[in-house]
Amino acid sequence: MQNLEALQRILSSPQKVVIIPHQKPDADALGSCLALAGYLQKFSHEITVIAPTDYPHFLSWMKGNENVLVFEHSKEKIIEHLILNTDVIFCLDFSDLARIVPLDKYVSASTATKVMIDHHIDRKAFAPFELWKPEAAATAELVYDFICLLGGEQWIDVPIAECIYAGIMTDTGSFKFPSTTSKIHRTIANLMDIGVNHAKIHHHIYDTNSENRLRLTGFALKERLTILREYRTAYFALSSSDLRTYQYQTGDTEGLVNYALSLEGIIFAAILIEDTDKIKLSFRSIGGFSANNFARNHFSGGGHHNAAGGRVSGGKLENVVKTFTNLLPTYKESLLNSI
Ligand code: 5GP
Ligand code: MN
Repeated sequence: MQNLEALQRILSSPQKVVIIPHQKPDADALGSCLALAGYLQKFSHEITVIAPTDYPHFLSWMKGNENVLVFEHSKEKIIEHLILNTDVIFCLDFSDLARIVPLDKYVSASTATKVMIDHHIDRKAFAPFELWKPEAAATAELVYDFICLLGGEQWIDVPIAECIYAGIMTDTGSFKFPSTTSKIHRTIANLMDIGVNHAKIHHHIYDTNSENRLRLTGFALKERLTILREYRTAYFALSSSDLRTYQYQTGDTEGLVNYALSLEGIIFAAILIEDTDKIKLSFRSIGGFSANNFARNHFSGGGHHNAAGGRVSGGKLENVVKTFTNLLPTYKESLLNSI
């Protein structure tokens, strides 16, 4: 990180600090925020974590979750007392303010010192302090590095370590994605030495399904999966009525897209989900085919080379499915040649 000493000087006296993850925060985004919050609290800073939207209940075990403010639920307080009237704003797991709409305009307007820590590809610079490494497996990995850069490794206690572990575990697909390095394993070993109970974290995140979530998964696999072998592509399309039938809760479709990618011979997978005002899309790929470019070029989104997301505002599900499938012939060559 450039200007680390200037940031260290700012943090050497108690500050009012706001920490923000991206919309619909996942374990990496929320875990990074709560790990950093836990660390900074030890130095008498006044910390508030503000999530732009709600997030899955399987993250609620993280220490500090009980104090997270969700923007949708307390807008005025958040804008006037926190964002516009704070000393430092940390932006974690995003590098484009468009990822925190509708908080973006208040963060832009705030005169606070902004610090961005992230690993997504399409950075749109907005902060004077940046720890931005697209090659990092997780923002939580960078938060760990950041704490070490500040010389604070010995302050990482079990709750902080658990949040970092959860972020790294989920963003590496439980340590299977190509982004998993020996450095990641060394960091994980350090977290385990601190006392992380890894089995407990896997259980909280992967084995606390509701019956509805499991049955929605079964329904999607049986009724809503389309396989287009000629494009080495498979996708799910879920309507809002499908979601209602299974009393959908935030997070219930997380990871579903990976089932499509697990099919032998499939290297590109998508899930299209109908929301009230938009269709949300998630893309996953294996090898050279860029999910990020696909999401960025056609669905106002982005993310990482092999995992990205996007959206269509106000579209109808069947039309967006058509738009998606109509794009595939253009990409046929790269889909078939991708290794
Ligand atoms: P997911 O498909 O799990 O929602 O997201 C996959 C990856 O793409 C994550 O790293 C996520 O942060 C990123 N992502 C998801 N939706 C969007 C989007 O609309 N815009 C951008 N730039 N990134 C996204
Ligand atoms: Mn991440």
